[in-house]
Amino acid sequence: MAVKLKIKKGDLVEILSGKDKGKQGRVLRVFPSEGKVLVEHVSMVKKHVRPNPQRNVKGGIAEQESRISLSNVMLVCGECGPVRVGHDTKGDRKVRVCRKCGTTLDK
Ligand SMILES: [Zn+2]
Repeated sequence: MAVKLKIKKGDLVEILSGKDKGKQGRVLRVFPSEGKVLVEHVSMVKKHVRPNPQRNVKGGIAEQESRISLSNVMLVCGECGPVRVGHDTKGDRKVRVCRKCGTTLDK
């Protein structure tokens, strides 16, 4: 079953809950089968890194993004902020539109 995803890689989204509530960031990756996304600088977790001299990696603690549920993010319209997304057709293409102002949210 194909799930209609409202969020795509590169979208600007706002976080709706959790410790990063209110933060905005770009979507780095979408995991459709899990219904989760990776958002830049959001839901950072500390990760222990082993030193790897061959790859010039120093050991220590690195921070990286962790996956958050799609239901916790909302697409941001440049005009209105976080909005519900509607669908429209432009020629033979399906596009996402802002439900508030009607602006097309796809390039
Ligand atoms: Zn709008």
